[in-house]
Amino acid sequence: MSKSKKVFVIGAGINGLCTAWALVRRGYEVEVFERGGIPNLVSSSYDEHRITRHAYGTMHAYADKMPEAFRLWEQLFADIGARHLDERPQILFQRGPEPWVDASIVDLDRFGLGWRDLSLGEVADRYPMIRMDGMTRAVSIDGSGILFPIRILTDLVVHLGAKGVTFHQSADVSDIDPENARLTVGGTVHEADHLVIAAGAWVLRLLPELAGEATPSRQAVLFLSPPVELAAAWREAPIFLDLGNDSTTYMLPPRPGTRLKIGDHIFTRQGDPDAPRVATDEDCARLMDYGTRALAGFDRYTILERKACYYTVTDTEDFVIRPVGGKATVVSACSGHGFKLAPHSGEEAARLVDAAG
Ligand SMILES: Cc1cc2nc3c(=O)[nH]c(=O)nc-3n(C[C@H](O)[C@H](O)[C@H](O)COP(=O)(O)OP(=O)(O)OC[C@H]3O[C@@H](n4cnc5c(N)ncnc54)[C@H](O)[C@@H]3O)c2cc1C
Repeated sequence: MSKSKKVFVIGAGINGLCTAWALVRRGYEVEVFERGGIPNLVSSSYDEHRITRHAYGTMHAYADKMPEAFRLWEQLFADIGARHLDERPQILFQRGPEPWVDASIVDLDRFGLGWRDLSLGEVADRYPMIRMDGMTRAVSIDGSGILFPIRILTDLVVHLGAKGVTFHQSADVSDIDPENARLTVGGTVHEADHLVIAAGAWVLRLLPELAGEATPSRQAVLFLSPPVELAAAWREAPIFLDLGNDSTTYMLPPRPGTRLKIGDHIFTRQGDPDAPRVATDEDCARLMDYGTRALAGFDRYTILERKACYYTVTDTEDFVIRPVGGKATVVSACSGHGFKLAPHSGEEAARLVDAAG
């Protein structure tokens, strides 16, 4: 496609914005259509923090993409003029047989990144917030960190605006024509040379043919204030990923501008992304159970917020990034890994736009 051509991007989450960033760098004229404000508070991307890391356990295909994703993040930070990444190790806790740690180490060695076993005594001394029951191994891994999405989205919108991207807020796209690169908003049809559908958990409304492949999944997170005597330890803490207790629970320490957060990586595979976003007792039951079993003094933590968020999941956890019809591309990069890989996914989508000619 010649570079003066026009591309419409549907969705101003991180995947839509990163695709817009990749397209603008290639010289395309880009317009972003977003059903809410920009950025949209209920998008999957809008949160205080997201984990990034090179190690991906047994999911080596994700690990393969991470060096390039890290490189692109640095390029993006240079463009927006702010490095919204706090590099800090991630500690993996193993509580019984579990392939994830050894598989992660294989990739870290491959990438030349550091890791080390911590003695259980060291874990108990340094991380008084963690209960040691059933812990068999703890490994600290490098090449990981915390991305700050709200700041990234905001600065990216400002940057793209300065590069000439047109934003349409409250522009709920009701219909698309992927063969002719047309979309409809409020009864008006708009036409471009190509459409990119980056609609997150709402993707099935525009592409119902993805039903059964990309499934919206309601996920809960808890924002917490720890007991006073643990506050200093949490402030200094790395990222924790607990692979035990019949769950995979992640814990992100409070950093400037963010709160302590816990969530898990068990997909509910149900829910409507337009449902209320205050997490219910039922949504939070697993996290509350985890906290009681794995965090010392959990009954003395204050819950600051119970938030429900949606992403799409696929059976294999693969992303759906591919052509649709003759003049459209879908970017449904989710399954709980979609933020860290968004600059990579945006490049992949932009290459497909190029290839569409
Ligand atoms: C609780 C939770 C924890 C997570 N943790 C991590 C993590 O640690 N690391 C990581 O890498 N990833 C993580 N993720 C996943 C990551 O946040 C998502 O994969 C990513 O943000 C998805 O971005 P997106 O742009 O595809 O979708 P979204 O951010 O949801 O953006 C889609 C946008 O499209 C708009 N839209 C939808 N339909 C229309 C329409 N018809 N017309 C106009 N606009 C429309 C929506 O309003 C929305 O703003 C997590 C997700 C959740 C929910």
